[in-house]
Order: sequence, then C-alpha cells, then structure tokens
Amino acid sequence: MTLFSASTSVRASASCGTLYVVATPIGNLQDISQRALALLAQVDWIAAEDTRHSKILLQNYALQRPLISLHEHNETERTEQLLNRLLRGENGALISDAGTPLINDPGYVLVKRLRQAGVAVVPIPGPSAVITALSAAGLPTDRFTYEGFLPARSSKRLQALAKLADESRTLVFYESPHRLIESLQDMAEIFGSQRQLVVAKELTKQFEQFVSGDFAEVLAYFAAHSDRVRGEFVVMVSGAVLAEEAPSVSEWDDLIGVLLQQRLPVKQISEIVAEFYQVKRKAVYSRVLALKPESEGV
Ligand code: SAM
Repeated sequence: MTLFSASTSVRASASCGTLYVVATPIGNLQDISQRALALLAQVDWIAAEDTRHSKILLQNYALQRPLISLHEHNETERTEQLLNRLLRGENGALISDAGTPLINDPGYVLVKRLRQAGVAVVPIPGPSAVITALSAAGLPTDRFTYEGFLPARSSKRLQALAKLADESRTLVFYESPHRLIESLQDMAEIFGSQRQLVVAKELTKQFEQFVSGDFAEVLAYFAAHSDRVRGEFVVMVSGAVLAEEAPSVSEWDDLIGVLLQQRLPVKQISEIVAEFYQVKRKAVYSRVLALKPESEGV
C-alpha cells in the first residue's frame, strides 16, 4: 500500500511525480481553494479540457504554467504522454472547464492508468455542480443518486427514466438548456406530474435561481418564462415514495413479455395490461419501458 500525505507543496523529492486533480469554479471565479491556487502555481504543467477556456482562470490568478490539452478525443494518447512525464519526475495538475474533473468531464482514462502504474494521484477538492445544487435544494441528501446527462433521444431517455421510476433516493441530473423542457416532460411522464423537483440554474453566477414544485408547476413556470431556459442546469427529483402495500408489478411481467414479443408499441401494451389488471396506464408504461430490450425504440 502507498500512502501520500496531504500538502500544499508538490512532492519535490519523489523520483516519480504526482498528478493533482484540481477542482475549479463552476461560475464564480472566487470559488477556488488556496491549496488549489498554491499547487497550480507550482506544478510543471496543467492538463486542461479546453486550454483557451482555462487561460481565463489562470490569468485571473496570474498563474503561468504550461497548459496541455486533454479532452475526450485525445485522452487515450495524452494519457501515455503524461504518464511518461510523471515517471520522469514531473508534477502535473488536471483541471476541467468547470468544477471537479472526472465528474462528467475528462480524466477517468488518465487517473485509472496512473493508479494502475502506481503513480500518485492527489485530489484537491472544490466545487461540483451536483453537490452545490443539492446543498441548497431542500430535498433529502442523506441518500442520492447522480445520473449525469440523460440520453439525447427521447425514446432512450424514456427507457433510462423508466429504470429509475421506483428509485427512492433523490435523483440528480445534469441538463443542457436546449433539452431541459423535453427532459422535464419525459420525467413527468414517467415519474408522474405530482413528483416534487428542484431545478437549480446558473449556480454561483449572477442569474442563479432555484425553481421548485411538482412537475406540472415547474413546467408551467418555464412555459411562462421561456427566456429563463438559458444557462446551466441541475435537475433534482425527489425519490419515489413506494406505498407499503403496493401490488407487485412483477405479476404484469408475463403478459408484458408476451406483448413485447408481438412487437406492439409501448403505449398499446400499457393500455392492454392496464385494462387487464385494472391499474393505471402510467404505472404500467414505465414497467413496459423497463422490460423492453434497449435496442428497440418506444
Ligand atoms: N465537472 C462539472 C462538475 O463538477 O459539476 C460538470 C461538468 S458537465 C460537462 C457540465 C454540466 O454541469 C452543465 O451542463 C450543467 O448541467 C452542470 N453545471 C455546471 N456548472 C453549473 C452551474 N454553475 N450551474 C448549474 N449547473 C451547472
């Protein structure tokens, strides 16, 4: 086992260097730790997702270290180059455009490879939109599940959401402004329009806002204020409250399976099963989506 002590100075004596994974602001440039600034001033190089973007942050703090690009299209080849530099004794930092690297940002391939090679990887914590949003949303945070971005296509998105329909932990999603409304509509379809949610917008920035209510209310709000569907969003949905004596959905599965084999549309299967078992179509709909093979559309 290898142990490394937490410090604000780079490990000068080691024959092999260290990679510092440094969290940077998600909007407000002041949200960066003193330890992060101290390390960014000392490392031999900084690997950044978008070097032009990161220059703004570095210039703001008069940091002048060489920048190396590391993004999803070159991460594999860059990883070997950076590994070799660290093995030669150089110290480096990894940053992303915003927040914590690897959280929906590049870095996983690099960090995994360095760990395999026994190179020290040291986290320098700081902002991440998921934690920032949860900390002020007023939804349960004792247990939550971070789902990142949902699929772009509605059929895939509905299938992904269907798998989460019974999840009792708070659900956290990242979403882009041009898909926000479609995604909220699909969530309302699967989770029910009464489920509570909080949409956190432009965290730590000038137009920071939290919009909360049930899906019907939040969708009505954005319909009335379409100019506010701009910027960056975190969507947090309260977990499912499962009735203690809710009937087991598995008793529908055989019939759903037979109808899926007939390649009937999800909507029609839901209607048939709902009619047969005298239950709500919406409840069956998410079960059908969950059982449907991923390769098939809705
Ligand atoms: N690494 C980042 C982190 O630690 O949160 C996430 C990067 S991911 C590519 C970008 C997404 O994070 C945005 O589309 C948005 O969903 C969310 N996000 C980032 N900054 C945000 C902010 N200031 N306010 C709201 N959401 C934000």
